[in-house]
Amino acid sequence: MESKKSKGILERLNAGEVVVGDGGYVMQLERRGYVKAGHWTPEAAVEHPEAVRQLHREFLRAGANVMQTFTFYCSEDKLEISGNVSNISGGQINEAACDLAREVANEGNALVAGCVSKTPCYQNSRNEPKVKAIFKKQMDDFLKRDIDFFIVEFVDHVEEAVWAVQVLKTSGKPVGATMCISPQGDMQGIPPGECAVRLVKAGADIVGVNCHLDPLTCIDTVKLMKEGLEKAGLRAHLMIQPLGFHTPERNHSGYINLPEFPFALETRAMTRWDIHKYAREAYNAGIRYIGGCCGFEAYHIRAIAEELCAERGFLPPASEKHGPWGAALEMHTKPWVRARAHREYWENLLPASGRPKCPSMATPAEDEEHQLKSNIPT
Ligand SMILES: [Zn+2]
Repeated sequence: MESKKSKGILERLNAGEVVVGDGGYVMQLERRGYVKAGHWTPEAAVEHPEAVRQLHREFLRAGANVMQTFTFYCSEDKLEISGNVSNISGGQINEAACDLAREVANEGNALVAGCVSKTPCYQNSRNEPKVKAIFKKQMDDFLKRDIDFFIVEFVDHVEEAVWAVQVLKTSGKPVGATMCISPQGDMQGIPPGECAVRLVKAGADIVGVNCHLDPLTCIDTVKLMKEGLEKAGLRAHLMIQPLGFHTPERNHSGYINLPEFPFALETRAMTRWDIHKYAREAYNAGIRYIGGCCGFEAYHIRAIAEELCAERGFLPPASEKHGPWGAALEMHTKPWVRARAHREYWENLLPASGRPKCPSMATPAEDEEHQLKSNIPT
């Protein structure tokens, strides 16, 4: 399949363009009934392609410049352990996911990123040849289809992320690497700055973070990565795809350690106005690839595109149905609702949860995490 895109990811970033990423697939498709939580495997690309295609379209319409393949946890070892898929191979899912992403990307001017994530093999064995063979298998699936670049995402040990980058770089395509880490560093305590240095030395063209923590915490982590690169005299583009949830607890493993994960996170959802603040702060931090992960819906992506409209020079198609800063409310029949049709109102609003018995913060399960960490073979 021939794609009609004009510029690749590095051409866009090298030219100083803001690249808007897409939002979260796996958690959104779980809520819509196509993914099983706990397993979190992406067989829906084969079983329910219409559901995956529709979500791609929503992100494209909202302004995303990249369609990530719906291939989270789609390594053969993960599919086998999850036991959630029979009669469908990892190769079939990877190839179907590439075709869906390409089909929708070509409806706009978007790029397709083939995505790999952390493997159970690393967690269980730390065996470099075995782990690399798993990434190579997935890469070979992607290379049978038309993809523009690769993203390594949701990896919490820099060693594994480096191995993934080393494998994917053999394709000759650009590679972005995002780790799901906190400002405290990876699961072995390697600081974000050092993680970024190792990833760039391994060949990553774009580095940053995704998932696990809220936007402002993730910006802090990427700032530490940037500092580390500058100190080492290295350069790379910066990327961020945080949660669409508030995680002010800032615990090391993020939302997975919160009691609400994964079935009661709704009270923590970001508003579109929270996302305006995020997009601006990410831009000011020098990050030019700005998207979202779990909890990021189409209206959040649209909010990134609207906040950065002046820098990018255009609005996304979905803004046809959205007045900036609540402007559409000027049409409302009730004067007290009309009074909300301005930026100051939404920027300063402190939204109530409507749940009088809810605490504002939770106690993360850090103790259990430390217990588990001490059991990981080294
Ligand atoms: Zn996520």
